[in-house]
Amino acid sequence: MRWTGWSAKIGRFAGIDLYMHATFPLLFIWVGFIYWMQTGTVEGVLFGMTFIAVLFLCVILHEYGHALTARRYGIGTRYITLLPIGGLAALERMPKDPRQEIVVALMGPAVNVAIAFGLLVVLTLSGGWSPPDMDAPMLMPANFLQSVFVANIFLAVFNMIPAFPMDGGRVLRAVLSFRMGRLRATQLAARIGQTVAIFFGLVGLLGNPLLILIAVFIWIGAASEAGASEVETQLHRKPVARAMITEFHTLAPWEPLSRAVDLTLAGTQKDFPVLDGRRVVGVANQTAILRGLRDHGLHGRISEIMSAATTAETDADLFELLEALQQGEDVRLICILRRGELVGLIDMENISEFLRIEAALRDH
Ligand SMILES: [Zn+2]
Repeated sequence: MRWTGWSAKIGRFAGIDLYMHATFPLLFIWVGFIYWMQTGTVEGVLFGMTFIAVLFLCVILHEYGHALTARRYGIGTRYITLLPIGGLAALERMPKDPRQEIVVALMGPAVNVAIAFGLLVVLTLSGGWSPPDMDAPMLMPANFLQSVFVANIFLAVFNMIPAFPMDGGRVLRAVLSFRMGRLRATQLAARIGQTVAIFFGLVGLLGNPLLILIAVFIWIGAASEAGASEVETQLHRKPVARAMITEFHTLAPWEPLSRAVDLTLAGTQKDFPVLDGRRVVGVANQTAILRGLRDHGLHGRISEIMSAATTAETDADLFELLEALQQGEDVRLICILRRGELVGLIDMENISEFLRIEAALRDH
């Protein structure tokens, strides 16, 4: 298994890496324990664990519902992670068009509805419905397929709660943004999400700890969504020229890698624009420089390791540049041009510094 932070890669399906969070197996242990307490039998424990495994298979399919729909709109998915509280598809970005956002959000729950419908047909045709048995332990329903059916209905309904970070919250935001700006729509949807969280929390206090957990999860999700949109407004319509790095070093394609090493060690710059005369011809980022040193040594040429440069004009939208930087690991630096000539650089660190300064000025 390959680990990335707290998550291990467990496979790759439809071109998307599937990760499992380190805490995920704890869920199995917990479920096994609950079933052991309820039934006291090994069969009970196996039933519980199989049920959870099938349930999470449905969660994975739900996430692929989002990811593959987004792909139809030209939006890639960086990875899908399984957490004990559910799945998470990390889309490269959300669609700007509210109609597309609605479709992407709906296609997750739609997968669960489709699974439930399939089971409904199977159960009805086979006469496999069993009436609820009031004497059986709560978590030990007589019929496995029937439990999976109920769980999928639950997944669809739960995800359609109109609150961030649930899919219903995204639909709500998109619908609201037809009538008001995207930012106000996000803030309103986030506030509704936090109201729902408080309601769940209060009901949970009456004796359902699971609801309290869900309330905390909704609260955090709503807050982070509101925060992300805050960043969006901060960066929106801010001139790139105010935020860009204007003191930097450049490399030439024919220079040796040793020059990049000297500049890296002498300063804090890690990624360098490559200029042929005054023309930007590429970017040499740290990863490529290190790989170049391994393959060619200090005498390798910059031209051998540089990659295509991402450029923008001085009047570009800072938020769009941030999105470009977040999209792929290979874009770490954006060259800012004025009339074709390099005048500045923008990278992630620089944008976060800009945000910190703006925040400090606002609080002043
Ligand atoms: Zn979803």
